[in-house]
Amino acid sequence: MTDQLAPMPTDWHRALAVVAHPDDLEYGCAGAIAGWTDGGREVAYLLATRGEAGIDTVDPDRCAAVREREQRASAAVVGVSSVEFLDHRDGVIEYGIDLRRDVAAAIRRHRPELVITLNHRETFGGVYWNTPDHVAVGRATLDAAADAGNRWIFPELAEQGLEPWGGVRWVAVAASPHPTHAVDAGPGFEHAVRSLLEHRAYIEALTDEEPEAYVRKFLTETTASSSEQFGGRPAVTFELFSR
Ligand SMILES: [Zn+2]
Repeated sequence: MTDQLAPMPTDWHRALAVVAHPDDLEYGCAGAIAGWTDGGREVAYLLATRGEAGIDTVDPDRCAAVREREQRASAAVVGVSSVEFLDHRDGVIEYGIDLRRDVAAAIRRHRPELVITLNHRETFGGVYWNTPDHVAVGRATLDAAADAGNRWIFPELAEQGLEPWGGVRWVAVAASPHPTHAVDAGPGFEHAVRSLLEHRAYIEALTDEEPEAYVRKFLTETTASSSEQFGGRPAVTFELFSR
């Protein structure tokens, strides 16, 4: 008997998704976000970088503009209009005080009940090593959910008018190797496909496969891989940390 994944909580109104790179949310999580915004919830995106180191053949200055444009288009497909960039450096994001402060500031501005981030663990399961940027941003986001509520951590934020926000109830970590919760990937699947397809320049540089075929295959396989733990339904999975 496989341990079953619990359904994600739905009694919330605002979420903030914090990730390292353009495309981090689209490789799976956007299907869940599509359903949430469709149900009238607000979701905002915060990206630590513009993904400027992501395409080998394009220099970072030009790449940043392309990937920012693709990220905004991807977000729009799933009903997200607020997309912010922190401009940490792609590939060499440092976990630390600066990153925690930047994320805490965004949490205080957006006042979410649910914070979403990408896998902060060493691997994506088995021998699939995670990247240092994902680990740094995921950890900083888990920490910043608490920082945002404490007046005496980063007092300079309050001086800038960002009052503490202790209302984060959960941090949901997408693509964790230790998922606890899930969303049915079926209803949002076509939105998820179109959202990931908006990263066209990135995908065309990544693979020789036809982009839509590549995207459909990836999202079908990843959402099917957890279905056994979710009553046979394809799933977008999360490791949920309650606060
Ligand atoms: Zn990434």
